[in-house]
Amino acid sequence: MGSGKYEAYINCIIININNMKISGLLIILLLFGSFGFSQDKKINVVVFGAHPDDPDADAAGTAIKFANMGHNVLFVALTNGDAGHYEMGGGYLAKIRRAEAEEAGRRAGAKYVVLDNHDGELMPTLNVRLDVIRLIRDWNADIVIGPRPNDYHPDHRNCGILLQDAAYMVIVPNVAPDTPPLKKNPIFLYAQDFFQKPNPFTPDITIDISDTYRQKISVMAAHESQHFEWLPWTSGRLDEIPEDPEERIDYLAKYRFINITPEVRASLEKWYGEEKASKVTQAEAFEICEYGRRPSDEEIRKLFPMISD
Ligand SMILES: [Zn+2]
Repeated sequence: MGSGKYEAYINCIIININNMKISGLLIILLLFGSFGFSQDKKINVVVFGAHPDDPDADAAGTAIKFANMGHNVLFVALTNGDAGHYEMGGGYLAKIRRAEAEEAGRRAGAKYVVLDNHDGELMPTLNVRLDVIRLIRDWNADIVIGPRPNDYHPDHRNCGILLQDAAYMVIVPNVAPDTPPLKKNPIFLYAQDFFQKPNPFTPDITIDISDTYRQKISVMAAHESQHFEWLPWTSGRLDEIPEDPEERIDYLAKYRFINITPEVRASLEKWYGEEKASKVTQAEAFEICEYGRRPSDEEIRKLFPMISD
């Protein structure tokens, strides 16, 4: 509760105490107290990725909405990205990528943490798991987002496993006892992917990001060494990349445009209603991981207030 609201709260007690019976006052306090809580409660979101540029690509459109509403967003890259280039590597590249991640965080209104594990070598070890648990606890996370453990890249797969391994353990006091445990298990969500085996992605929660898509692309564009150098190089598109910064955003917006699948459209209809859903041009979909808390639809609407905004 903010201090201004707290003073108003106390004044309310003083004014009313002279006029009301104690039982009536208690009812008012209860009502007012819960109202104050729902108004002031910040939702703490953490988006994990294997590399600096993964969290943004998975969830920046939704993260921007949380940040714009005053909630707390943390992006975490579990590796420093020191293998992601064709002309440079090692500590020099890691330094560039850390600076790019900081800029991406600034553009999204989020904090960006980059751990110092080597790119291409991420393993689901106990030490990394404990780091993940500490980060989730320190952020007092309500929502944790990351990749599924089905993916073409071993670092992405292992990031997914690490998150599964941290779910539930974040509430166990004897695990990583140097960091106080969370009182309740956050909800863990997988970001959308298109891999089909062993099972395709299920869109349980889908957020309309039509109005933040351009800003999401601008956040992603902060990772210049990736979206305008390394990734085009890997797919033979390096000669297509424009020089002008605005043209680069246009290029990336076109290249990263995702056609909404029938399953994602159905999820949009569930959360936004048919009419609103029909107008959505870009979305971010999430699947609920079975190992975190299993939220009701009502709780999901509270945790994703932008759905009803
Ligand atoms: Zn990656």
